[in-house]
Order: sequence, then C-alpha cells, then structure tokens
Amino acid sequence: MSTPVLTIVVPCYNEEEVLPETILQLGAVIRELIQDKLISKSSTILFVDDGSKDQTWTLIERFHLSHPYVTGLKLAKNAGHQNALLAGLMKAKAYSDCVVSIDADLQDDVLAIREFVVKYNEGYEIVYGVRQSRGTDTAFKRATAQGFYKLMTNMGVRIIYNHADFRLMSKRTLDELERFPEVNLFLRGIVPLIGFRSTQVFYDRKERFAGESKYPLKKMLAFALDGITSFSVTPIRFVTLMGFILFAISIVAAVYAIIGKLVGANVSGWTSLILSVWFIGGVQLLALGLIGEYIGKIYKEVKQRPLYVIEKEALATANVTKEHLPAEPVSVRR
Ligand code: UDP
Ligand code: MG
Repeated sequence: MSTPVLTIVVPCYNEEEVLPETILQLGAVIRELIQDKLISKSSTILFVDDGSKDQTWTLIERFHLSHPYVTGLKLAKNAGHQNALLAGLMKAKAYSDCVVSIDADLQDDVLAIREFVVKYNEGYEIVYGVRQSRGTDTAFKRATAQGFYKLMTNMGVRIIYNHADFRLMSKRTLDELERFPEVNLFLRGIVPLIGFRSTQVFYDRKERFAGESKYPLKKMLAFALDGITSFSVTPIRFVTLMGFILFAISIVAAVYAIIGKLVGANVSGWTSLILSVWFIGGVQLLALGLIGEYIGKIYKEVKQRPLYVIEKEALATANVTKEHLPAEPVSVRR
C-alpha cells in the first residue's frame, strides 16, 4: 500500500505571533511522519488566512518560499473560524488522502497527529482528538465549555464530549461533508452525522502559545446558540410544553373562578377577565409552539442536508463487459 498524502489545515486569524512556532512544530511533525514512511512525501500544511489584519499572510508567503511543505490560502475577508476551516478542507481534499484540522495557537497537541495517522492507516475514516484535561484553561472557559457540551447533549445533538476541531478526516468523509450545504456551519455537530468508522485519540490541552483568544465571550455565546439552534428543535418544544402547562392551569383557574362566581365571592367582572387572561395566554403559547414546529420543519428543509451517507457498496459493476467474464461458468450452484 502506498503511503497516504496528508494535509494539515490550519485556520489563522491575526496569528502572526504564533505562526512561526506553529510552522516549526507542524513542520517537524510532517518531516518525521514522512521519514517513518507513515505519510507520503508530498504531504503539506495548508494555512488558511481568514482575512487577518496583521502580517499573517506575509508570513505564510515567506515560509512558502523557503519551505516547500508550507502552503497557503487567503480568504478575501474574515469569514469566521468554521468557514475558514471548511475552505481549507475543501481545497485540501482535492489532492489529499486524509486531512487533519488543527488551530494555529498550538493548544492542541501536535504530537497526537502521529496517532491520528496511525489510526487512519488502520482503517479509521474519522479520528477525533479529545481533550483529556483542561487544566490550563481558565476556570471560566472550562465551566462554560463543559456546560455547553452538557446542554448540547441534553438537547439531543450528537457531539463528541470535549472534542473541538482537532480531527482527522479521510477524503471520503470530506466528500460527504461537501454534501451538507449548511450556511450555519457547526462542524463538530455535522461530522458525527456523517458516520463511517471513527475513533478517538486523547491528548492534554495546553495554553495558547502566544497571542489572544479570537473567541471572546460574545462570539462564544453566538457559536453555542448557533450550534443548538442548527441541530435541535428542543427550544421550540419547550414553548409548546409551556403552552400546554398554561392551558391546563387555565382550566383549573376556570373551575376556581366559576365556583367563586356561584358562591358569590367574586367582584363582578373579575371572573370573565381572569378566565380570558389564562385561557388566551395558554392558547397563544400553544399556537406559537405549533407554528414553531412548522418553522422547524421548514428550517430543516431549507438546509437540504443529505438524507444518508453510503458506507460501502457491493454491486455488480455496471461496466463489466462480456470480455471480462469467464467464457464458461466454472461451476454453477443451484
Ligand atoms: N480563527 C479564524 N477566524 C476567526 C476566529 C478564529 O480562523 O474569525 C482561528 C484562529 O486563528 C485559531 C482558531 O480559529 O487558529 C481558534 O481560535 P482561538 O484559538 O482564538 O479560539 P479558542 O481556542 O480561544 O476557543
Ligand atoms: Mg485556541
């Protein structure tokens, strides 16, 4: 078996401070893997400059001239981490057998890439890098991130716990990923939907090598909300549930108010008022939830996700001609 061509895709947004070190470390990984005959000599690193405002692209170009395995892709404007990553993956899949995605800041363990490739060579199509410890993250980041994973799982979104965007995907997986025409891209939710044989590799998450996080709280919250609303209708169901509860309460309130009216304890006019308030409130929420259900369906349709992914085929080849078949059947079993 010939060795696979690997491409490491690295999205970069204003990463001039870390880039030289990243290139150094990833370059060492690539060279070692080539030396140990685990990957092909034509394996490369693809840096995707996500509309940086600093020297990121200049650096990429400069390293490209001196290091043949450094390649780059420059986006016209800042498209966001997920979109930049997708741009890199789709470019790389044309000439790679497998692609590893990793952040530029060296928080993920570059040495795990070797294990990814070993797993790929064993036949796994997707290898998820999973953080073993978050000791170096701030307590706040750790709590919010963990809460996020819990919430997602509770809302029925299939994501891998403590896995971000450090993973290996085979060319076939990327071909399938291309069939997801999503606009609100949330890769770590989509990749498990594809299926295929997958495994996990554990590593320790480190501190950012240099520079600042490009995910301030505001972006992080938007990302989390995107993830939930793109994959789950639970929030809509919640509205419907509230409607039901309020409706039930309105019936109890009705009984209470009518009894009050009959025994003459109510101020005149109160009964009809309070009945309408509860009843209308309940009906409105129910109706909202119902409309929400339909909007949820429309939303799913608009996304046009592929309905299935084919893993293997065992069909008669369509273009088998007579010449390819043996002239006489050797044995015919009935
Ligand atoms: N990034 C990007 N475009 C953006 C924001 C971030 O390409 O608009 C890249 C960034 O350069 C880094 C990766 O996405 O390689 C993850 O960002 P960061 O490390 O700042 O996020 P954190 O680890 O703090 O969640
Ligand atoms: Mg980071």
